[in-house]
Amino acid sequence: MADRLGRPLRDLRISVTDRCNFRCTYCMPKEIFGKDHPFLPHASLLTFEEITRIARLFITHGVQKIRLTGGEPLLRKNIEVLIEQLAALRTLEGKPLDLTLTTNGSILARKAKALKAAGLRRVTVSLDGMDDAVFRSMNDVDFPVADVLAGIEAARLAGLGPIKVNMVVKRGTNEQEILPMARHFRGTGVVLRFIEYMDVGATNGWRMDEVLPSSEVIKLLRTELPLVPLDPTAPGETAERWGYADASGRHDPRLGEIGVISSVTRAFCGSCNRARLSTEGRLFLCLFASQGYDLRALLRGEATDEAIASAIGRIWQGRSDRYSELRSTMPAGSTGGARHIEMSYIGG
Ligand code: SAM
Ligand code: SF4
Ligand code: SF4
Repeated sequence: MADRLGRPLRDLRISVTDRCNFRCTYCMPKEIFGKDHPFLPHASLLTFEEITRIARLFITHGVQKIRLTGGEPLLRKNIEVLIEQLAALRTLEGKPLDLTLTTNGSILARKAKALKAAGLRRVTVSLDGMDDAVFRSMNDVDFPVADVLAGIEAARLAGLGPIKVNMVVKRGTNEQEILPMARHFRGTGVVLRFIEYMDVGATNGWRMDEVLPSSEVIKLLRTELPLVPLDPTAPGETAERWGYADASGRHDPRLGEIGVISSVTRAFCGSCNRARLSTEGRLFLCLFASQGYDLRALLRGEATDEAIASAIGRIWQGRSDRYSELRSTMPAGSTGGARHIEMSYIGG
């Protein structure tokens, strides 16, 4: 099954909560997500049974990979139970899913073992710098770097690898952390990925001049650490891969690799095979969509599995979203006419 631009559906991202214990300035600025912010009531959230049912129906359309996200997914109570249910699902080819999760790492040290035992394959951890003062001010809840590093180490010991670490780069805020992050993770087996600061949501006050293009990240890294381009490992992969080179200029697998995700300067909509399910069961076809399709109404109504699966199919087949490709043609500061949904609502 393909959408109107010929793209298959392979990757489903499920947001399991809209709450978070961080207030990253680029995602959930405190002024907007304060004490009085109306988060979703529990009854609005899809239950684990509803999520597993819908995941099974997405798989009938070719989904191979499921990523749990949020908000902070590890804050959802008994998340291990959901992971167990999802880990039991099989792809159309009868294989286990590529089941993963994106977390801020704050409670990963406590949870890593249980997550692995439940059937989670690997994790992606977000970390925006090695310097404590910089990181504490970016997460805006004074959370220390050391605790995230402890989470990453616990995940490694639990066998939740290969671990990826995502760093959002904001010019003028944490660009000085690029080299220290690379030095820290080189040779550890962790794949560090630099993400361009994106204009997701409507509350972070995004400005183009705060985007540090990935090309500049690579240029900076190469002043100290030799890098060579690597081939993509999977179709639709968002990250461009670069391997650390040895003295002879060839990639040395022991030193590992990094990735750059150029969501702003080099759109990859042409191969975008991702669907996103919000915490309350709305299906979004693009990170920059302003409207979702209410699948929860179908799940809580009388609809049969077949009816829901065919609704998903119809929605995907009608998809023509390619916001990042169109962004460059929009007037500066424009959002294409609509208010974007928040990253903390839809996940990354
Ligand atoms: N709370 C979890 C975390 O931070 O890993 C999962 C949800 S978070 C919304 C998913 C990813 O989106 C994180 O890696 C975060 O850094 C990234 N992100 C959030 N806002 C962003 C923005 N404006 N531009 C680029 N990446 C962003
Ligand atoms: Fe929370 Fe993740 Fe958003 Fe930071 S990026 S505020 S950790 S949801
Ligand atoms: Fe996919 Fe939308 Fe991002 Fe393009 S802008 S890569 S269609 S999520």
